[in-house]
Amino acid sequence: MLRSLLTMNVFGALLIILNVATILGPIAGVALVYQSNLQEMVIPPQIQGIIDSGGASSADLNGATFFTGEALQLPQYVRSTVDTAARSVTIILSFANPLDVDLTMKSISANVVCSEHSYTLGYASLTQPTILKARQTSEMAIVCHWTIEAENHFSTAHSGESGVDVDVTEITVEVNGITIKSNEKYHIPNLPISMQIAPPQYVSSQPDLGTRTVKITFNFANPFSYALQINSVSASIACGTDGFLLGQASLAEPVTVPASSTSNFNILFGWTQDAENHFSTSHRDAKSLDVDIVGLTVNVNDITVKAPSSYHVPSVPLG
Ligand SMILES: [Zn+2]
Ligand SMILES: [Zn+2]
Repeated sequence: MLRSLLTMNVFGALLIILNVATILGPIAGVALVYQSNLQEMVIPPQIQGIIDSGGASSADLNGATFFTGEALQLPQYVRSTVDTAARSVTIILSFANPLDVDLTMKSISANVVCSEHSYTLGYASLTQPTILKARQTSEMAIVCHWTIEAENHFSTAHSGESGVDVDVTEITVEVNGITIKSNEKYHIPNLPISMQIAPPQYVSSQPDLGTRTVKITFNFANPFSYALQINSVSASIACGTDGFLLGQASLAEPVTVPASSTSNFNILFGWTQDAENHFSTSHRDAKSLDVDIVGLTVNVNDITVKAPSSYHVPSVPLG
């Protein structure tokens, strides 16, 4: 039995402890730190005695059956739902409680990591305390809020995919007054991802004929519950008629976008000598020019967000 305990998952260990508590009396208040190795856990002496005497899959203890976890089923993935507005995914798990007592799942917290790239995507928590009825299968809901880093990871490393495999790690579970931490990974395949940071929206252009520059204004929406800092922006400016590269644009000044709101940012573009030559040769009599803003790349909170397509700006005055 010691061997099976040592290889058992956090839920198995938890149930054994709860079962022992039911039979032998409360051991609540004991915070158990379970690190995928029962020998590293601070084990109450009563439980240690049972582990040492074990061998059978269940033990008769003062007339009560002691559940050893061998019949345990891990929580099963049922389904998940995406909330685009809240930038979150809710994961529904079912759990068969093999014990004769109700369990009160008070909290769960965990990290959610991309399985393929070991990239931290966000943090998961139990939506509300949940009663897991004795000898019944109950459902519980865990919500995971994506970080901006996660959204960027989806759009760069999982472009075109509708879901990613994730590992839920560093799980902390609080049940019936007992807290257990685990370093185990819990794998969930093909979790849906449909949320992306919206590309900046073009607002307006303001040519300054004196300095031969154009100020181009964009609007950036921050869907997150914390402020974002736009640190740098780069883009190429091309002739909208023939694609001739006119020069580069960059961020005028850093901008803070408050939580759950939008802000404008400006990029500045100076006409190059090549651009002036292009105007005089290819657009000799034109008073204005269509331009394309190509490869707009925004650095926000040190994460790179790339606009998926170019922006067409008609009739920029040439002066
Ligand atoms: Zn990934
Ligand atoms: Zn041109």
